[in-house]
Amino acid sequence: MPILRQIAQLGQPVLRRVATKIDNPADAALQALMDDMLATVAEVDGVGIAAPQVYESFAIFTVASRPNPRYPHAPEVPPLVVINPEIVWMSSEMEKGWEGCLSIPGVRGQVSRSTKIGVRYLNRTGDLREEEFDGFLARVFQHEFDHLHGLVFVDRLESTRELVTEREYLRGLRNQA
Ligand SMILES: [Zn+2]
Repeated sequence: MPILRQIAQLGQPVLRRVATKIDNPADAALQALMDDMLATVAEVDGVGIAAPQVYESFAIFTVASRPNPRYPHAPEVPPLVVINPEIVWMSSEMEKGWEGCLSIPGVRGQVSRSTKIGVRYLNRTGDLREEEFDGFLARVFQHEFDHLHGLVFVDRLESTRELVTEREYLRGLRNQA
């Protein structure tokens, strides 16, 4: 049975470390970690989680996008486990969009990201995958990729004026609807 993991909050050194690449994705402890990450991110209505966010400094993250109360407009895609990712290319076209982070509760910020990326990674069975992502998934991928390099989304804000509380962010969404 997967275990719900505690989420490291900003200030924990693990979030600022460069994560270690995985040699053997089949390792039982790593497979259990992946199960735990998927269970944890579902429990807390995240759309992705990186291993350093559960105090494990390994180059693994999940993308688990589905509409939920924190991200009402997220697309529904089957949960994806990403190991040792590389971003092979990124579009010069950028777009600003709202991001939040399980490690920085209570705030959302506007972050500029490439609209399209080409990536390479190992899936959880160790197969090499090459894919392209755009839109919301490209954003989530870039956000989680940053976590493996000790970066968080607030590092990428152009101005602190583009940071708002989650409460006001969600109020804004409701007012649009
Ligand atoms: Zn995050």
